[in-house]
Amino acid sequence: MQANEQRTNIIRNLSSQSFDLLVVGGGITGAGVALDAAARGLSVALIEKRDFASGTSSKSTKLIHGGLRYLKNLEIGLVRETGTERAVVHHLAPHLVRPEKMLLPIVDGGSLGKFTSSMALWVYDFLADVEGDDKRKMLTKEETLAREPLLRDDILQGGGYYAEYRTDDARLTLENLKTAQRNGAEVINYVEAIDFNYDEEGHIDSINCRDRMAGENFIINARHVISAAGPWVDELRKVDHSMTPTRIFWSKGVHIVISKERLPLSQAVYFDTPYNDGRMIFAIPRLRSVYIGTTDTAYEGDPNKIPTYVEDVDYLLGAANAIFPSAELKIEDVESSWAGVRPLIYEEGKEGKEMSRKDEIFESETGLLSIAGGKLTGYRKMAERVVDRLGDQLEEKGRDIPKATTKQLELTGGPFEDYAAVVAYEKIVAQKLEAASLTPDRAAYLVANYGKQAEAIIEAAVKRSEGTDVSRLAAAEARWCIDNELALYPMDFFERRSGRLYFDMPSIAPVMDEVLNVFAKAYNYQDGELEAERERIQKAIEWVSQFETENVSSQKNL
Ligand SMILES: Cc1cc2nc3c(=O)[nH]c(=O)nc-3n(C[C@H](O)[C@H](O)[C@H](O)COP(=O)(O)OP(=O)(O)OC[C@H]3O[C@@H](n4cnc5c(N)ncnc54)[C@H](O)[C@@H]3O)c2cc1C
Repeated sequence: MQANEQRTNIIRNLSSQSFDLLVVGGGITGAGVALDAAARGLSVALIEKRDFASGTSSKSTKLIHGGLRYLKNLEIGLVRETGTERAVVHHLAPHLVRPEKMLLPIVDGGSLGKFTSSMALWVYDFLADVEGDDKRKMLTKEETLAREPLLRDDILQGGGYYAEYRTDDARLTLENLKTAQRNGAEVINYVEAIDFNYDEEGHIDSINCRDRMAGENFIINARHVISAAGPWVDELRKVDHSMTPTRIFWSKGVHIVISKERLPLSQAVYFDTPYNDGRMIFAIPRLRSVYIGTTDTAYEGDPNKIPTYVEDVDYLLGAANAIFPSAELKIEDVESSWAGVRPLIYEEGKEGKEMSRKDEIFESETGLLSIAGGKLTGYRKMAERVVDRLGDQLEEKGRDIPKATTKQLELTGGPFEDYAAVVAYEKIVAQKLEAASLTPDRAAYLVANYGKQAEAIIEAAVKRSEGTDVSRLAAAEARWCIDNELALYPMDFFERRSGRLYFDMPSIAPVMDEVLNVFAKAYNYQDGELEAERERIQKAIEWVSQFETENVSSQKNL
């Protein structure tokens, strides 16, 4: 089937059926909601105005974590829930939510001493029921340096070593959406909710939408709507005339990416900034790169295009150089970056870093349910809560829905018994790549990104006769993402499906032509379209690797 045809069919279904639920927003929250509701037997549609996960859900630190620092704010309930969710989400997709031991260096003058670190990590483990080898260990200075030799040793006293998980936020969103599809949901990207239509009693009964690819409007009939629009939740509440005094606050966070050659980190590290601002930063290795983040500044600009300023980069480099001084990192070492906004629930008199990461549901008289705040880590529980609330609305109309089943619902890309099975599978994939004269060193990347779906990509690459081993694989990967993950534009592939824009920028140029040709063929490009897409890729590369200097004074450090 032509890729355009696939899209036309979905839009035809969306405009011809009547759904129990329409979810607005294809970030992790919306994806989780669509899956939860579809698995409970509701007929579900989900629309996303740009690409899936193009909002905050591709801009996070990508940790599935309890949030050690929220203990400081005494957010015990939040830490317990997200801490416990780590192991649950890991079991749903062990290839994608991977164990990542974290090192917390204890330094002279640091925010946590030996005793307080030990206590904090003990409480952290206790709240999440962490057991066995995963329980925190307190390390001597020598043991700490053995795990991470790049740490500044003259101020180092020791370290805390504890269990977290790392994921790829965009891929976690995509696998949730695909699992929702497998459970009957209709999902589509580049379709925007414009406004709502109401029945005689003032309840929403349909939504006016715009297909941003075709430039056409259409209507989706749905008896209930959940807005999971993240930073845009208030925008939709305004359209529904249902704003309340509680509003969303945007807190901007930036990450930078350095190649491992420049920062050969052995281990993920969570460290104090040297600025006495009470903040802590992560440095996390990922395949050939290390990423460092995050900042935390109030943001009032355009949430569709959030710039990284030189000031943001300097802040992160200064913090990294203070703890890894031998690296002597400079702005030229920054290969890539991303900036996102946390959609926090505004609390009067509090600053961003103090504002709770808890989620909140807003219910309007028109029936619109909006869910915002929260964390990537807690997406499954957030979905459960808001679909339960929808269940209350349905019950009033005499319809009962079953309880959530997502705790047992493995995501696409599996199944894997456990993480050991993922590691074993990686070896099999490396052998398959070698046997097919493709690049065996792509095995780790393929399995982390696609899990067992990697095999279909390799099989398709084997059938391609033209191109280098690298470009055959990338072309097969791009086509697979078009057919299975609704990648509409080449940037959807380079940025969110494959993560190359952020974590493997040098890998783009050698495969650019082949990937562009794959999209051109799939979507039947007309004159000039291919070149326009090439330009979009170039602009995206500039956007993530060159930093703005304007407006720096407008940023308020939180
Ligand atoms: C810097 C930073 C670091 C973070 N680190 C972590 C971390 O390590 N671990 C963790 O657990 N959490 C982390 N978070 C929080 C986490 O990323 C967010 O809680 C989560 O991604 C929010 O997802 P969402 O789906 O609610 O919002 P989004 O991902 O923004 O999704 C909302 C979607 O709605 C779409 N939309 C908006 N309006 C419309 C409309 N009218 N029609 C159709 N679609 C629409 C948008 O395009 C967008 O894609 C971090 C956040 C930031 C900013």
